[in-house]
Amino acid sequence: MKQKFWLSCGVMLLGCLLMLSGFLTDRSLLYIPGIMVFSAGILLEFILIRCPFCHRYVALYAPGKFCPHCGAELE
Ligand SMILES: [Zn+2]
Repeated sequence: MKQKFWLSCGVMLLGCLLMLSGFLTDRSLLYIPGIMVFSAGILLEFILIRCPFCHRYVALYAPGKFCPHCGAELE
């Protein structure tokens, strides 16, 4: 769970960096893939960040917190 969380975070961060560098250097060649990578990161989070017990999406995931749906402790 923690690794999946950091994976989606990393992908989003990468997309952010691409967008930022594309914006700063005025290159749409970097900007457009940046948006795509960022969207993929959001999508990954929606797919991966789920409660391991009831398999529902946990919006505000933090290790040691409890699932808002079934009350189980998250990894
Ligand atoms: Zn749950």
